[in-house]
Amino acid sequence: MPASCSKEREEVLLRFDEGKLTMRELVILGSGPAGLTAAVYAARAHLKPLVVDGHEPGGQLTLTTAVENFPGFPDGILGPDLIRNMRDQAARFGATFRTGTVDATDLSRRPFTITVEGEAVPCQALIVATGASARLLGLESERKLLGHGVSTCATCDGFFFQDQEVIIAGGGDSALEEALFLTKFAKRVTVVHRRDKLRASKIMQDKAFAHPKIDFTWDSVPEEILDVAQGKVTGVRLRNVKTQAVTERPVDGVFVAIGHVPNTAVFRGQLEMDEAGYLKTHEGSKTSVPGVFAAGDVQDHVYRQAITAAGSGCMAAMDAERFLEHAAS
Ligand code: NAP
Repeated sequence: MPASCSKEREEVLLRFDEGKLTMRELVILGSGPAGLTAAVYAARAHLKPLVVDGHEPGGQLTLTTAVENFPGFPDGILGPDLIRNMRDQAARFGATFRTGTVDATDLSRRPFTITVEGEAVPCQALIVATGASARLLGLESERKLLGHGVSTCATCDGFFFQDQEVIIAGGGDSALEEALFLTKFAKRVTVVHRRDKLRASKIMQDKAFAHPKIDFTWDSVPEEILDVAQGKVTGVRLRNVKTQAVTERPVDGVFVAIGHVPNTAVFRGQLEMDEAGYLKTHEGSKTSVPGVFAAGDVQDHVYRQAITAAGSGCMAAMDAERFLEHAAS
């Protein structure tokens, strides 16, 4: 029998006398594939995790339609369905869920305190799986057509654009990497960049410039994505930011690759991060604070896949379990 089932372990689940304050052995912040996989593993280890949903419940998978590269689903699965399945699986083993966003955290001593919409939740260990949000252009049409021809992930959705015309907004390494990836499927890929110089590394620029399927529209931004009324992408209206000239172009897909923002604001000054705000991890999922673990896109700006996030969620749950075992002994 694992030590996690021991009586001592149960005793860690102290109850505070005041109001609703319940000491949690493990809190998981975030309910994308990383947080939910951590919840499945932690719940099966009898850690009774509390999962705090966050401001994008289900994470980026809820913004996509078909997911065809998550192993185990030969016919693909809808992103929201995959998330629902993971959630049901975690709940079946005893994970509980709290809707809300985290206002503040105090990780300076254990038990840690997580404040969720004004309510303080003390916990012995914490898994941060708050993800990274894809930066969007901010257009209403973009939001409405997300998952219906607008995508923030070429690796996930490129396959659906066989022999079609797509544009990709952005001028960094991600935009060019995604543009190159999209050439495997699309007939033509147009990189639309707001300046006349790319931010991407020289090697990526050379590759993209040399590719016969890729062309560039400079000094331009998408102003409107068409056609919300039809519920699919049929074209894009581009504005030249220098001349203000607006042109319309028929396309089948719009990829947005203008960067990601890791959701780490509430941990600033408490957990070590890189310059872009991604959490630094070592020895698996450990962060700079013992007892706090990180999983998924919040600590990974390279792979950013549902399956890699899920894998790191599993690692974080196992690391948290080991940490709690030692803390209790
Ligand atoms: P990034 O380097 O921050 O580039 C974002 C791009 O989007 C920039 O060209 C920026 O334009 C543009 N942009 C930002 N906001 C915009 C807006 N509102 N409207 C239109 N355009 C907008 O982000 P990234 O490409 O995701 O890369 C992030 C980090 O990961 C970088 O350090 C990158 O080198 C690294 N990365 C490396 C690889 C690789 O080595 N294979 C692959 C992917 C990412 P401006 O240029 O005008 O600012």
